[in-house]
Parts: sequence; structure tokens; C-alpha cells
Amino acid sequence: MSIKFPIYLDHNATTPMDQRVLEAMLPYFCEKFGNAASRNHAFGWEAEKAVDLAREQVASLIGADSKEIIWTSGSTESNNLAIKGAAYMYGARKGKHIITAEHEHKATLDPCKRLEKEGYQVTYLDPPLDGVITAQMVKAAMRPDTVLVTLMWANNEIGTINEIPQIGKLCKENEVIFHTDATQMIGKLPIDVEAAGVDLLSASAHKIYGPKGVGCLYVRRRRPRVRLTAIIDGGGHERGMRSGTLNVTGIVGMGKACELCRTDMSDDAIRLGGLRNKLEAAITSELDGVAINGALDQRIPHTSNISFAWVEGESLMMAIKEIAVSSGSACTSASLEPSYVLKSLGVGDDLAHSSLRFGLGRRTTEEEIDYTIQKVISGVKKLRELSPLYEMHLEGIDLSTVEWADH
Ligand SMILES: *Cc1c(COP(=O)(O)O)cnc(C)c1O
Repeated sequence: MSIKFPIYLDHNATTPMDQRVLEAMLPYFCEKFGNAASRNHAFGWEAEKAVDLAREQVASLIGADSKEIIWTSGSTESNNLAIKGAAYMYGARKGKHIITAEHEHKATLDPCKRLEKEGYQVTYLDPPLDGVITAQMVKAAMRPDTVLVTLMWANNEIGTINEIPQIGKLCKENEVIFHTDATQMIGKLPIDVEAAGVDLLSASAHKIYGPKGVGCLYVRRRRPRVRLTAIIDGGGHERGMRSGTLNVTGIVGMGKACELCRTDMSDDAIRLGGLRNKLEAAITSELDGVAINGALDQRIPHTSNISFAWVEGESLMMAIKEIAVSSGSACTSASLEPSYVLKSLGVGDDLAHSSLRFGLGRRTTEEEIDYTIQKVISGVKKLRELSPLYEMHLEGIDLSTVEWADH
């Protein structure tokens, strides 16, 4: 089989929409265009019926009741509603302390920072080198005035999975609301909000082969009944928690995407896990000075974050231009900053700058992975041949003892 270029290995950033999702959505653009809030005619009923089916499809993927799904524009909005909504609702009565972690997504960290400006106190747990937040770490940070714990289920940069069920149990015991950003976990591995003791859960369609700009927040209705202060007011849609005319087309797409995950998830996980392991095994056996970031045995199956010592991630990306991956550096206004996620684990700036994230997906083929393996290995070797640092390493010079001349 021939490979179609460029090869897409950045599925943690977004996924291509599944053709079957598009087909489910199409009738809802022009033909079945009703407003789901129009309670008094057939156009509205038709739209509402489609939205209700999508609610069932999302709910059954995560073990929830369909009444517990609140539609949003994506995980950024879901996280904002969960974190600010719970803080405002419970902050005045119980306390103003929130627990999160340093390697969370900005869509969690920025709402937390906003709340700090408003008088809340936030503990940012410092993750260990393997990236996994344990219940023990959360317990040590818990205070009588803790109202909310917000921790992602799986990390978007390194793919590691936090101890969510254990943390959920701890939160229940302490009557603390527990929110998890499950954007990278849902549809990839089985999850159950009951078994995991989750009160609030964020998900986004475009990370699971659905359309961009639609997502949802699961809000627990029993044991306990979680209440949130709305962030968007007007009209009282979605049990008053999120006003605004529903994006029926997008919602139909998210529902279909969830249904497909439910049927395809276990096969995808086995196949992509196998390809990911092949990629890692080939690269680590062929190259020295490579390290896989994050706990190897506690990761989502399609994600791999690898550091290549003595090579700049950005240069390596240029050397493998026909393969779309992400690097461990982020462009800020003036300079290239090493990933704050890798830094928080204790990965040094040099190695963080030398890191690439490979995100496999439903359409990734073995041929693409074989090609990627060859390209990465030859790219790293070529760049190292040009690297004076690598030469010094080969000559046995310990780079940490070198005294650099000041410019
Ligand atoms: C992509 C992502 C988000 C943001 O989701 P949007 O739907 O794009 O707003 C939040 N959290 C995690 C972990 C993500 O991977």
C-alpha cells in the first residue's frame, strides 16, 4: 500500500472527522434545521429528538445518565463551567481551596488562575517524573476548606493516566467535588463515572473523530446532586447551566462519534498500542540517548513522547517534514519555551527542547509507522553528526562538567 503524505501523527491536537460522523450530521444542516428549544412544532421536536439520542450516546460511553450531559462548545468551555461554576456555587459556604496539578492543560490552569485573582487558593501538585498523580498526593494537599479537586484523566502531552478512581474515592470520603478533564481519555479506553467517583467530566468531540466546536460536561445528579453557577446566562437552556441555542448538527456529530468509540475503542486501542510500542521499540533499540517521557505502563495507547538527547526537537521536525508531530517546545512571543508539562516532571530544559510527541489515530497505518521509524532514526543520526555536543559525548566528555565561555 502506498503512503499518502503528509503523515498525520498529531491526534492529541485534533482528529480527522470520521466519515460516518459526517453522514450522521448532514441531514441536520439544511433539511432538519429546527431549534431544539422550539417546543411547539415538529421542526423543534425533530431537533430535540436528535439531541436526546446524542445525549444517550455520550452518556452510555461514560456510564452516565443522559440527563447528566450538558452541551458546550468544547472542553475549554466545559472546564471553565466545571471549575468556576463549582467554585462560585460552593466557595461561599464551604471554603475557597482548590487542588489541581502543574501539568494540567491551560484550559484548567487559566480558570484556576482567574479564581486565585478572585480570592480563591489553589494548590498546584508537583507531578513526579513519571507524571502520574496519585490519591496519596491529593490526600496530602487536602484541607478542611477544600471545595474542588480538578485533575485530568489522561495527559495530552505525555499520555499518562492519573489515579482517577482512587482520587474519586478520596474526594467522596471528604465530600469534595471532583472534576476531571477527560478530553484525552474518553473514547480511547473504557471509563465509568460511577466506578470512578467522578462528579464533573469534560469531553470534546474533535479529539474523538467528531466535529470541532462542540463538547460536553457531565454533571452528576445523584450522590451527590452537583450544582453549578452558570457562566453564560440567557434563556436557561441545559438545566440553566449553559444558555444558548444548541448546536444541533455538532451535537449529532458528537453523539455519533461516541457511539463509534463504544464499538471501535477496544480494537483501536489494541492496534494503536501495538503500533506505538513498535515505534518506541525500534527507536530505542536503534538510537542511544533517547528517553520515553511518562509512566510506560500507565498511558493511553496512542501517545508517545520521546526525548532525543543532543538534537533540537524543532530541527528534527524539519528533518521529518512530511510527518506531522508536536515538539516539546512552545512558541511564546519572543522565544521558544520548553514545554511546561515536561518541565514540571523535572525533565531538564535541554531534553524538553529535544522532545517530540507522536499521536497515533484510527486511520494510522503500519506502513506510516514503519516510514516514521526510518525517518526519525536517520533524521536523528544526521543531526547528531553535525552536533559538536554529540561529538564531545562520544569522546567521553561529561557535558555537565564543561565550562562554557560567556558570549
Ligand atoms: C484539547 C484539550 C482541551 C481543549 O479542548 P477544546 O475542545 O479544544 O476546547 C482541554 N483539555 C485537554 C486535555 C485537551 O487535550
